[in-house]
Amino acid sequence: MDSIRSSLEHFMDNSAWKQRYAKLKQEVLAYPRVQEFLQEYPEWTNEDTKTHMMKLFEFKRERENCDACPGLADCPNMMQGYQPQLKMEKGQPLVTYHPCRLKQQADERKKQQSLIKSLYIPKEILEATFDDIEQDHASRLSASNQCLQFALQAAPGEDAKGLYLHGKFGVGKTYMMGAVANELAERSISSMMVYVPDFFREMKQALSDGSVQEKIDKVKAVDVLILDDIGAETTSAWVRDDVLGVILQYRLMEKLPTLYTSNYDYEELETHLAYSQKGGIEQMKAKRIMERIKHLTTPIFIDGKNRREM
Ligand code: ADP
Ligand code: MG
Repeated sequence: MDSIRSSLEHFMDNSAWKQRYAKLKQEVLAYPRVQEFLQEYPEWTNEDTKTHMMKLFEFKRERENCDACPGLADCPNMMQGYQPQLKMEKGQPLVTYHPCRLKQQADERKKQQSLIKSLYIPKEILEATFDDIEQDHASRLSASNQCLQFALQAAPGEDAKGLYLHGKFGVGKTYMMGAVANELAERSISSMMVYVPDFFREMKQALSDGSVQEKIDKVKAVDVLILDDIGAETTSAWVRDDVLGVILQYRLMEKLPTLYTSNYDYEELETHLAYSQKGGIEQMKAKRIMERIKHLTTPIFIDGKNRREM
C-alpha cells in the first residue's frame, strides 16, 4: 500500500492529477455508503481519508455496481457475484467480499441441480417448477396437486410408492416430472430422470461392451427414479426382464419410489410389454412386471391439449 501512496503523492505534484484526485475524493466522500461508514468513526481525519483513499475508492466502485445490479450474469464486479463490504479492523478500513444475494441463490440452485441427474432429457424440462405449470385443465390441476404432494412427502428408503402419470402425447407429463425433480431437490432428495427409449437402446448396445451391470447399477439405486415415456420403446424380452425387471426388483426391496410417464394406461402398457420384438407373446412375464408397477404406483391421468402444437 505504501508504494501506491508514495506514487500517488508523486503524482500530486502534477496539477491535472491534483484536480482529478480532488474530484475523485469528493465523489468518494459523497457516496452515501462511505458517509454512513465514516459517521461511525467521529475520530476519522482528513489525513485518514488521504491514507485510505484507494480502499474507499475500491469500495465505492464495486459497491456502486451492486447498487445498479444488472443481474448476476452481467455483474461487472472484479469477482462476479461478490459484494464488497467496508469495515474497520484494528483501526484500518478494510474491504472484504461476500457472495451477494443473487450469487447465493444461484449457488444454492446449482447445488440442487446437482441432485438431479438425467439421461437424454431436454434441459428445459430440468428447469420446470410447479409455479410454471398452468392450471388450464381440471385434470392438470389434479395431476399437479398429486405430483406436488408426492414431491413434498416422498420418503425414499421407507416408502416405495410412486406415481404413474399417463395421458396423450404433449399434455405435459414429462414437464410435470421435471417440476417434481426440482421440488425433491429442494428437500435434498436426489432423483434421476431417464428417457426410457434411449436408455433401453443404450442398454442393448451395452451388451457388446460389457457395461450392462455398471449401467443398471447407476440407475437402480437413485432415491427417486423417473422413467419417462415408458411404452414408447421397442421392447425386447431381455430389456423387459433383465433390465427393467432387475431395476424394479432392487427398488422394491430398497423401498425406493419410481415414477413413470407413459402414453399408455396400465392395460395398454401390459399389452405393449407382452409383445417382444421377436414376435412371441409373453403375457405372463409382462403381467408380472405390470403387477409390480401397479402395486407401487398411483395412476394419474392427465388430459388437455397437445402443448407441442401450441
Ligand atoms: P408429454 O411428456 O406429455 O408428451 P411434455 O411434458 O413434453 O409433454 O410437454 C410438451 C411441451 O409443452 C414441452 O415443450 C413442454 O416444455 C411444454 N410444457 C408442458 N407443460 C407445460 C407447462 N405447464 N407450462 C409451460 N410449458 C409446458
Ligand atoms: Mg414426455
